[in-house]
Amino acid sequence: MRPRRRRPSPDTLRPRFWERVPLSRMTPAEWEALCDGCGRCCLNKLEDPDTQEIAFTRIACRLLDDRSCRCTQYASRRTFVPDCVVLTPATIGKVAYWMPPTCAYRLLHEGTPLAPWHPLVSGDPDSVHEAGISVRGWTVPEFEVPAEEWEDHIIDFDGSSDGEGP
Ligand code: SF4
Ligand code: SF4
Repeated sequence: MRPRRRRPSPDTLRPRFWERVPLSRMTPAEWEALCDGCGRCCLNKLEDPDTQEIAFTRIACRLLDDRSCRCTQYASRRTFVPDCVVLTPATIGKVAYWMPPTCAYRLLHEGTPLAPWHPLVSGDPDSVHEAGISVRGWTVPEFEVPAEEWEDHIIDFDGSSDGEGP
């Protein structure tokens, strides 16, 4: 009888796992490590009800730290922001269309490789900021702008950001 493959432990990061392990077979640690820390998904978005087209704004969720680009209450965030989506291999297919085009989960879900600035590829957690991909320093807190004015803050992610926002 052939030996059975042992399951990797939950905190295992296998070498270059993002290139060879399907999303559904990643360990919890690999899944978490996929996040590039850009903070783009924490920007408020507007959806056209007819076309489902998504427009991102520079208005950030109240829990986003504009310097670290991380959630300030990640473990308990849904207590404060109930509609914050928990990304899992089961949910990515439903939400990928409104995730940022650079999001690592969306890219791998669509069969696209990670970019050179992704910290897993570069080996440097700051590369996402240095490449101008993250939202560092150019967001507006949502409590400063009434919802009816969000359309005035729509941005365009075209990949040519200079580090000061789209
Ligand atoms: S957009 Fe994707 S990669 Fe960037 S912070 Fe959000 S989940 Fe992580
Ligand atoms: S609750 Fe946290 S993770 Fe969710 S959108 Fe807001 S800042 Fe991002």
